[in-house]
Amino acid sequence: MLMSALGGRPSAGTLTWRAGPGALGWCGDFGYGRRMRPVRAVLIDIDGVLTISWKPLPGAVEALQRLRAAGFPLALVTNTTSRSRASIASALAEAGFPVSAGDILTAPVIAAAYLQAHYPDARCLLLNSGDIGEDLAGLALARQGDPVPADVVLVGGAGPEFSYQALNQAFGQLQRGARLVAMHRGLYWRTSEGLQLDAGAFIAGLEQAAGNQADVVGKPAAAFFATALAHLPASAAETLMAGDDIETDVLAAQRQGLTGALVKTGKYLPRTRRAASGTPDHVLDSFAGLPALLEQLS
Ligand SMILES: [Mg+2]
Repeated sequence: MLMSALGGRPSAGTLTWRAGPGALGWCGDFGYGRRMRPVRAVLIDIDGVLTISWKPLPGAVEALQRLRAAGFPLALVTNTTSRSRASIASALAEAGFPVSAGDILTAPVIAAAYLQAHYPDARCLLLNSGDIGEDLAGLALARQGDPVPADVVLVGGAGPEFSYQALNQAFGQLQRGARLVAMHRGLYWRTSEGLQLDAGAFIAGLEQAAGNQADVVGKPAAAFFATALAHLPASAAETLMAGDDIETDVLAAQRQGLTGALVKTGKYLPRTRRAASGTPDHVLDSFAGLPALLEQLS
């Protein structure tokens, strides 16, 4: 759950923008899509937008500071599965971003809530790279190699843990009737060493092999955006989603009635934009351009 203070922040009805040497300039393709309507709150993806490999992208810290100074209600929404929400908050704060854990909604947090609601007391076989145990508290997690059947195979983000042995164990549980639940099905993400293969590639294989369609709980699931919006003092129509994944962040948000802004950093590739299922409302060179866009839209 996002922190209640999100709803307690002043509405961003009037933004104060400073001119001068520090002011952010115009950049990107404003108004690329069709929607130009008032925006009062923002949802922001983290990886590839604010940071790459947890290092801030140029101008990102200053842009978020400007949104905070203007009292703009915001939440960070991420499919990141390599760290707990507290650890993400700590890494971002260390990098200079003015955020706390309560500002952040993660796919693992949503997955835990989803499983407790839909599969209470289920034994879950977790396949994930990273320490997210504290965000999965309350779930009954089966150990790798545990012979007892699992009720759910819960797939997070890919990494060395996705060995043949681990994937084959997951396949075995699916054959025995376990449900397949995915935190997301991203195919790749960008690190300081380039694009890295993510869980979506393995989920597609498990689905085909076991004949079992995964329930996806992170972005682009409608419920993920609904949960984030529930903690903002703004409706979908008044909220903008900024992300580097044209399908999962931007077009998925637009389908839920939000305004979408694609940033050309992180996993952005011209070919994925050309092949996308729709057109972003706005395209920015980077997150550094968001304050100026919001000034236009507010
Ligand atoms: Mg991203």
